[in-house]
Amino acid sequence: MSKLTISEGLSYDDILLVPSFTDVLPGEVNVKSKLSKDIHLNIPIVSAAMDSVTDSTLAIAVALEGGTGVIHRNYTPEKQAEEVSKVKRYLNWIIQEPQIATEDTTIGAIKDIMNKYHATGIPVIDKNKKLSGIITSRDLRFCDDNNILVRDVMTKNPIAEVGSPTGNSAREKFDKYKIEKLPIIDENGYVIGLVTYKDMDKKKSHPDATIDGKGRLIVGAAISPMDYERRIPLLLDSKVDFVVMDTATGDSKSVIEAIYNIKKKYKITIIGGNAATAEGTKRLIDAGSDCIKIGIGPGSICTTRIVTGVGVPQFSAVYSCSEEADKQGIPTIADGGIKYSGDIAKAIGAGASTVMIGNLFAGLKESPGKEVIYEGRIFKEYRGMGSIGAIIDGSGDRYRMTEEEDPVPEGIEGRVPYKGELKPFLYQLIVGLKKGMFYCGCKDIDAMRNYKKFIKITVAGLKESHVHDVSITKEPPNYTK
Ligand code: IMP
Repeated sequence: MSKLTISEGLSYDDILLVPSFTDVLPGEVNVKSKLSKDIHLNIPIVSAAMDSVTDSTLAIAVALEGGTGVIHRNYTPEKQAEEVSKVKRYLNWIIQEPQIATEDTTIGAIKDIMNKYHATGIPVIDKNKKLSGIITSRDLRFCDDNNILVRDVMTKNPIAEVGSPTGNSAREKFDKYKIEKLPIIDENGYVIGLVTYKDMDKKKSHPDATIDGKGRLIVGAAISPMDYERRIPLLLDSKVDFVVMDTATGDSKSVIEAIYNIKKKYKITIIGGNAATAEGTKRLIDAGSDCIKIGIGPGSICTTRIVTGVGVPQFSAVYSCSEEADKQGIPTIADGGIKYSGDIAKAIGAGASTVMIGNLFAGLKESPGKEVIYEGRIFKEYRGMGSIGAIIDGSGDRYRMTEEEDPVPEGIEGRVPYKGELKPFLYQLIVGLKKGMFYCGCKDIDAMRNYKKFIKITVAGLKESHVHDVSITKEPPNYTK
């Protein structure tokens, strides 16, 4: 009989990072990272493309803190693009193509535009197409007659900035003239943009927000080999920053062909996945992926390994896929299985540039899952995209299921404790990561990715690592057993 060689697969719980001499403090550690060659994040956190995790509300909250979110694809293509657009419109430096009205637009039409685009101030142009006024929601407050024309209600000859304003020059005008909207015009008086006080204020209170070159929050959207042709044109119109091939296994003909075709047809950053082996990673990179998402079976709601018998323990998968991706300078995302902040440190130590989080975000106030009360405590619903409920709502093709087939789920539907707002929760995760990097003497993510000092632990080691031989009487914000 030939000798069978079986390699070892390790999960986050099987290992620890070994400490080293350190000369950095947790507060000095830099956790900026890369999602792709062109997309930079201020924290290495991506929220999962799941219908109980990432809609526009959670994507906005994560991006304001420096990470990014991936809008799920149980939405119709139109609704998904609308969610992306909500994120892109949330924060602006200069609104490049603001809604504009002519002087003879009716107030009724203005109210419709304001409602549709959540705009509270609209520059008005005269018959020569030059700026002649501005109409704001304040002007409309006592305006009940929808047939009145804009010219009779607008503020004429509004304060405007010619050319390209700086943050200071715009702020000076807001302060001096007590205005909240500042139209930007070119030297001929044509409107070329709009700056709002609200946007400047939001930007000031979120200095670490992940933003694109135009000051808008960065957001991604999930696609599949079956639906990308319908989704991508709409997503591009909504100014999406990247798309994520949202499939259970990316090392497949249809995914690889789809990535190849997308790269040929569209100018867009694409994350390929999911991978769990070095060979699969290489094939996804050769097809054109700008980043590789790693994980087959580590998700908290996932039953893939049990139902199919297939998977790779996540620490080993992240290690081998990232090693392969590194050869070509392609970043990776460790997707699934993050239970504590220490797992983020381990994932990055294994070579990932970022982690994708589902479970830990599902209980947040900003997540779309329904709140439920169970035995007097508040929970939020959290379900796998391969669960029966999610498949019925549309995600069957993630697991190669057609509508006619009886679902054979690879995920469950459950609940997680309500956790309150994202900001303080994320703070605990990030400071936990920074402390991990401090223990290892790593001053930035690249140093941590190349640290590579681990020790394998036993069941006794894991038991020793967790709180033991004591009852917790005051739960800390970053640990529950
Ligand atoms: P978690 O953070 O451990 O809950 O893992 C979230 C990840 O699990 C997602 O980003 C997906 O990659 C994966 N996932 C989502 N739904 C399912 C499912 O139904 N079955 C298997 N994996 C899933």
